[in-house]
Amino acid sequence: MTEVAPEPVEETIATACRLLAFLGLVRETTGHVSARLDDQRMLIRCRGQLEAGLVHTQAEAVRRVDFDGAHLDGAGSYETPTELPIHGEIYRARPDVRAVVHAHPRASLVCTLLGLELQPLFGAFDPNAMALSVDGVPIFPRSILVRERAVGAELARTLGMKPVCILRGHGTVATGASVQEATIRAIQLETLASITLEIARAGGRPQPISPEDAEYFRRLRETQDRKAQAHGADVFKWTWRHYVRLLEDSERGGVARLPVS
Ligand SMILES: [Zn+2]
Repeated sequence: MTEVAPEPVEETIATACRLLAFLGLVRETTGHVSARLDDQRMLIRCRGQLEAGLVHTQAEAVRRVDFDGAHLDGAGSYETPTELPIHGEIYRARPDVRAVVHAHPRASLVCTLLGLELQPLFGAFDPNAMALSVDGVPIFPRSILVRERAVGAELARTLGMKPVCILRGHGTVATGASVQEATIRAIQLETLASITLEIARAGGRPQPISPEDAEYFRRLRETQDRKAQAHGADVFKWTWRHYVRLLEDSERGGVARLPVS
């Protein structure tokens, strides 16, 4: 089999931004994706003079900065995101995290406004979404912009060692061992939120699965985490490829994105 050279991380981050917009998890110019370079520096999606929203992100907008947002290759015309401390403080607190996605998806937002917690509701319907929620999804109670380092540190403490976090009246944070993994987790978290919301709209009360079944998915997540740390979990690569193909087909067809609700 021919070896395929890995694409530059800047390209992967740009694709992740366009994909999140395509799926409606980010709107207009909000939301960002980053990747750790080492224990002080990261690559992060910035805004340039031709900024036109995440759906149009190109790799040039992905810049090398330190965890406080200082440009390392000269700022040029690019501004770092207002909420850069989300990324910097999570990288400082979690050496295992290699990538962070911050999105503003609708169902997750509405769940926080209704006071609906994201619980392990379903099982094999979407095992990886399930694995995210099996120990509960932490909720950051502040609805403000995360623009100061202290607020970012508070958010990182709320996240703890969990893979994802939901921000009340704001959005979501997903982490991973790669940009692909963090992006897929952001999508899966929104799937869980949309099903939680659907149950509530139908007048039902979300009921978590049994402790025995929850334990099954906890073990599944631990196995995946080990695989991802070692060489990247295949399931995330496959799911990433699935979505990126859809995105590419859409872009070739001239359809920028799915309608945002
Ligand atoms: Zn935000």
